[in-house]
Amino acid sequence: MAPLDDEVIVVTGASRGLGRSMAERFAAEGARVTLTARDEQRLTAVASDLTAESLVVPADVRERNAVETVVEETVSEFGRIDTLVNNAGVSLLGMNDGRTRLTNVSEDEWDTVLDVNLKGVFLFTRAVIPHMASQGHGNVINVSSGLGRSAIAGAGPYVASKWGLEGLTRVTALEGDEHGINVNGLDPGGRANTDIWSHLPAAEREEILQPDVMDDAAVLLAAQGPDGISGESMPAQEWEQRLS
Ligand code: NAP
Repeated sequence: MAPLDDEVIVVTGASRGLGRSMAERFAAEGARVTLTARDEQRLTAVASDLTAESLVVPADVRERNAVETVVEETVSEFGRIDTLVNNAGVSLLGMNDGRTRLTNVSEDEWDTVLDVNLKGVFLFTRAVIPHMASQGHGNVINVSSGLGRSAIAGAGPYVASKWGLEGLTRVTALEGDEHGINVNGLDPGGRANTDIWSHLPAAEREEILQPDVMDDAAVLLAAQGPDGISGESMPAQEWEQRLS
């Protein structure tokens, strides 16, 4: 029996990068997966390659109605949600081909990064928790970053969003505890070769971590039962040591 047989998992940002890789791995481990992001064409292409049953529900994580539709359609199709992976995220690094000091960050850029990386997680979490609470179990995996524990100049909105996400992870863990819901942060442990780094030269991109870097840890986190570890956040490799 595969570790995630019959589990139901929602992955945000599943159209490419780290989210796509985790979704593919969850399916390979037996899970039924809901794939969501904005780009329906890419999501459909990902779904067509999956080895397990899946559902494509396009949504912008910043839009409450769209988020609630993803959750409702998943519950209607698969009966429940065992794990939510809040992975969708943007970084000014990719948007501006480099770092931007705060004095040059526009309000639109600030709002975009905070809304996708933080408000989107709030909206998805708020929509999913009641279902998990009524089941008495669930896992929420928030994809964070080393920049949720440290800071660099020129990445103000991203750093602020990921520190905020670290706080939100801990609050959600405290509130989920009585319902058997584990809530944890997971990050690649360095730069991973996805579109966030599309401005880097190809040779440099080949040398950084690859998009499957979080897959093993994500499977271990999604396989946790109601008494699992909760309220912690660490890089994939540390999770693997902790949970293997
Ligand atoms: P990516 O390849 O750019 O993928 C980002 C994903 O988020 C895409 O599927 C994108 O899909 C989705 N997305 C963006 N805006 C969205 C929105 N408004 N609504 C719904 N979905 C949206 O980046 P990635 O590297 O895989 O990033 C995934 C996560 O890992 C992010 O949270 C990022 O902060 C984190 N992370 C990445 C690295 C790294 O080095 N790559 C390091 C640390 C942490 P659509 O465009 O189709 O909507």
